[in-house]
Amino acid sequence: MYDVIIVGSGPSGLTAAIYTTRGNLKTLVIAGAKWGGQLQLTTEVENFPGFPEGIQGPELMMAMRKQAEKFGAEFVDDDIPPTDLTKNPGGPFTIKIGEKEFTGKTVLIATGADAKMLGIPGEKELTGHGVSYCATCDGAFFRNKEIAVVGGGDSAMEEANFLTNFASRVYVIHRRDEFKASHVMQEKCKANPKITFVLNSAISEIIGTNSVEKVKLQNVQTNEETELPLQGVFVAIGHTPNTKVFPGIEITERGYVTHQYGTKTNIEGVFVSGDVQDDKYQQAITAAGYGCQAAIDIEKYLATKG
Ligand code: NDP
Repeated sequence: MYDVIIVGSGPSGLTAAIYTTRGNLKTLVIAGAKWGGQLQLTTEVENFPGFPEGIQGPELMMAMRKQAEKFGAEFVDDDIPPTDLTKNPGGPFTIKIGEKEFTGKTVLIATGADAKMLGIPGEKELTGHGVSYCATCDGAFFRNKEIAVVGGGDSAMEEANFLTNFASRVYVIHRRDEFKASHVMQEKCKANPKITFVLNSAISEIIGTNSVEKVKLQNVQTNEETELPLQGVFVAIGHTPNTKVFPGIEITERGYVTHQYGTKTNIEGVFVSGDVQDDKYQQAITAAGYGCQAAIDIEKYLATKG
């Protein structure tokens, strides 16, 4: 019987594991077949405190994992199948993975959120080499460069505006000529002299040898194809919080796990932390902070249960 089963192994899950193990709670991390979360897909991380020279995303995650293991966290590098935690509120909770069965007094959901991808040639290959899903994280790498932001929602507008702090030109590439973004955000972008709109257009391919060099653009109305030389592509077409494996967990209308009571969910004994409950900040450091909060809430909850 574990005191806590943490599902997810990004900065949130691993920070929680460091705290729960140091708090003497028997901890299992179900890390996922591809452990480490979104930072495993990035290259340099310059904004995580403590690393003045920056650190590679995978290296940072390995360091967090080693730290959790050092204090006694156990790891299972598998994905979990859909698991209904509502069956036994208050626990214990059982999670089955194939023949293996794990039981915990509490569960922490730290499954993160995945940035939606365009699914076009060159995107995967050049992720971390000019293709990014986070302007706050990577904007500073594009000083005086020409870049594109894909999308027509508030995220795209906000990122485009923010990126003009660094880039010499920001193209907002949107598949329609109307925007989902709020009027005020659109107007801000339209008034920004560094932003150029490319409308009714989709990127059909991102091209580059070691980093992004250009994109192929397709006008969705005329099918005309053109090329646009660029050094960066920021994809801002939304996120998918990873809640599908927990049927019965209460989510907001935008799909994120609700957490009205600190890190508690609607199911007693089930807690949540990180990007799966955060539709606003979505940073490694905020995810880590939420992981710490959840661990402290879990310790207190277990103490009250005796
Ligand atoms: P949205 O779902 O609002 O917008 C996504 C945009 O991406 C849409 O314009 C959509 O196009 C486009 N898109 C989706 N899939 C593709 C694709 N495969 N190829 C090309 N384009 C695509 O997501 P956001 O992340 O922008 O916003 C999410 C929520 O967060 C919203 O409620 C938003 O208001 C909020 N938010 C608020 C902010 C603020 O107030 N400061 C800042 C950021 C977000 P189409 O329009 O054609 O569907």
